[in-house]
Amino acid sequence: MADATHNLSLEEMDRQSVLHPFTQLKQFAAGDLGGPRIVDGGQGVRIRDTKGNELIDGFAGLYCVNVGYGRTEIAEAIYEQAKKLAYYHAYAGHSNEPTIRLSDKILRKTPQSMSKIFYGLGGSDANETNVKIVWYYNNVRGLPEKTKIIARKRGYHGGTVFSGSLTGLEIFHTAFNLPVPQVLHTTTPHHYWQAEPGMSEREFSKKCAADLDAMIEAEGPETVGAFIGEPVLGTGGITPPPEGYWEEIQKVLDKHDVLLISDEVVCGFGRLGSEFGALHYDMKPDLMTVAKGLTSAYQPLSGSIVGERVWRVLEQGSDKYGPFAHGLTYSAHPCGAAAALANLEIIEREGLVENSKTAGAYFQKKLKESFEGHPMVGEVRGEGLLAAIEFVADPASKTRFDPSMKVGAQLAAACVSEGLISRAMPHGDILGFAPPLIVKEDDVDEIVARTKKAVDTVTDKLVREGQLKAA
Ligand code: PLP
Repeated sequence: MADATHNLSLEEMDRQSVLHPFTQLKQFAAGDLGGPRIVDGGQGVRIRDTKGNELIDGFAGLYCVNVGYGRTEIAEAIYEQAKKLAYYHAYAGHSNEPTIRLSDKILRKTPQSMSKIFYGLGGSDANETNVKIVWYYNNVRGLPEKTKIIARKRGYHGGTVFSGSLTGLEIFHTAFNLPVPQVLHTTTPHHYWQAEPGMSEREFSKKCAADLDAMIEAEGPETVGAFIGEPVLGTGGITPPPEGYWEEIQKVLDKHDVLLISDEVVCGFGRLGSEFGALHYDMKPDLMTVAKGLTSAYQPLSGSIVGERVWRVLEQGSDKYGPFAHGLTYSAHPCGAAAALANLEIIEREGLVENSKTAGAYFQKKLKESFEGHPMVGEVRGEGLLAAIEFVADPASKTRFDPSMKVGAQLAAACVSEGLISRAMPHGDILGFAPPLIVKEDDVDEIVARTKKAVDTVTDKLVREGQLKAA
């Protein structure tokens, strides 16, 4: 496919003009990675590229295309809205119908204590907004020192300056001068790696809470504004919380008057088999962050959802500071809201939250049956339609592979050779799965079977190379 004006292929034009996220820049630009893969179509759980490959998307894009590809109903809703009113801003009390209807719908699904929604474009900016709301809240209360935000090591909250700082993965900080100083990171709630031998999950949860308590005490509770966490830790490894984790954490937050931000960017709108992670784990968030599954990525749209307790204070801020001086040009974008409404209607009509629960339970069972006990599998874990297999060199001694072997990346590449997209998570050798919420049992069987073939291929290769003992 050459372009008439340049006589360049689309692939070459891409290498010459696009700066790709999460890509080895030099090798990519030189063409050594064989890319780009140009994706030009999708239907249901499958995507297609320009070379005619069809792949099962076991990660729903970046865990976002929850209703699957090719939903003309959403495309039409966007088109109709764009024809009627493509844009008007939401500043100074302006609004539009889809935003109003969407807000009403979302607040019927969230925990009852939620009150208002501020709209942005993606998860990162929604977290930035939530942090600004925490600061505003404490300034209105006359507590201007209460600004620090505690996140977790291996948490993921975005890639912008502050959300990237909240992210607790080194790769997102190195060479970018992050994290900023107001951010602290506490213990990763991952029993497999972090618990001391013999510790029960409940004991480990108490330890995580004690670590948080000690951190707040050391910093001074009067300087700590909020704690942010994903209900299930996502990009840092797809790790469900240990038993009682959120209950124990909540006690510490209450003790120190620290707000809870539940980052629901991945978990929200059904991924765990419940509407929200906060409902799934009985969390008591003061603020919630949503994006991804809100529109199934048919439009960029995010929400910072404010609880009643915070809202009451924000309202009072008007007397002190005048208008709430935070906004984005595209806040409450009508086309985004129209896409979200059509998406949420599909989720309701097709019972996709329920499907996430039942197909998710089947998926977790199949993954455990197929991979637990495998000579290079340390842990198989997940919740709903969010799952991970963690690979180690020696499960008995919990010894990791040498990172330079890039076992996770090899496994993900082997999956692609089997026609399946999974995701090599950035920390450790972890294959992540988050298929669209529409998957049926036969899709799950196919995903597990293809993964099995890929794992066998890589296992055989490592044994042949003498990097792994034969079983
Ligand atoms: N929060 C969580 C939990 C995420 O997983 C992500 C993205 O993966 C974000 C925030 C950032 O969202 P975005 O990439 O839309 O800015």
